Amino acid sequence: MDGVKKAYRGRFAPSPTGPLHFGSLVAATGSFLEARTRGGEWLLRMEDVDAPRCSSAAADAILRALEACGFEWDGAPVWQSRRGEAYAAALERLKPGGRVFPCACTRRELADSMLAPDGAAIYPGTCRGGLPVGRSARAWRLRVGDARIAFDDAIQGPMTSDLATDAGDFVLLRADGLFAYQLAVVVDDAEAGVTDVVRGADLLQSTARQILLQQCLGVATPAYAHLPVAVNAAGEKLSKQTLARPLDVGRPAPSLVAALDFLGQAPPPELAAADVATVWDWAVVNWRLARVPCGPAPCPVA
Ligand code: GLU
Repeated sequence: MDGVKKAYRGRFAPSPTGPLHFGSLVAATGSFLEARTRGGEWLLRMEDVDAPRCSSAAADAILRALEACGFEWDGAPVWQSRRGEAYAAALERLKPGGRVFPCACTRRELADSMLAPDGAAIYPGTCRGGLPVGRSARAWRLRVGDARIAFDDAIQGPMTSDLATDAGDFVLLRADGLFAYQLAVVVDDAEAGVTDVVRGADLLQSTARQILLQQCLGVATPAYAHLPVAVNAAGEKLSKQTLARPLDVGRPAPSLVAALDFLGQAPPPELAAADVATVWDWAVVNWRLARVPCGPAPCPVA
């Protein structure tokens, strides 16, 4: 450690699988305010690495919604779909040490595997010692070994993860030839010099995997703060799949004020009738990360 604290650099990294909804607005608002109130930069990255699930129409809609809400990002947005070479280079760097291995298993062959807390199959290790005779590589996985990862989340508190039982050897290059989110996010955050990740707590389960990957690639680990997740009446995370309502771009102030309220900032209700510039003036002066609650909470009807 050189003892010199790096200038704060945060980011917002939506997946353009649908329009901006209340859940993603919460992540944008929290990460933006934390960056701005700490005198930092705020970058925007379109996480369209999973091309079949993403669309350029959704990406456009997200950009328009962010603009309508008055978000201002530093530099041009980064598009993961254009960064395949950087991800391939990172995977190549992991090959010589044997930290990654090719895997021939099909989804059906893994169907009986134990499940990780996030519902994904824990890899049973079939190809860990080498590809079975006559089989060829479909995917590449990271060997997690007995890695235990601990980190201090600024909102959720101290976290630990035993990766063998919480995730297992996870995929970096998928059988369909696409790089996995876990690799893309680590490579992108490192290359952009992101110092602080503020995002939804639905990604808390991924953080230990990402920290292990950072360690394997020899890049810095950012500080983490995981915001509470907005859920619908059935307790499900708001998403395209749960039919979350898109943001009303014609009237963004009430949604922004609802996001601030959701994040524990207690905005005065009359702020909802103001213009977005006034909402941000209030928010920048009053934002306190320490007031953000940690548990999931229902989406307010904005
Ligand atoms: N693209 C992810 C999402 O929209 C966020 C990834 C991240 O912030 O690290 O859920």
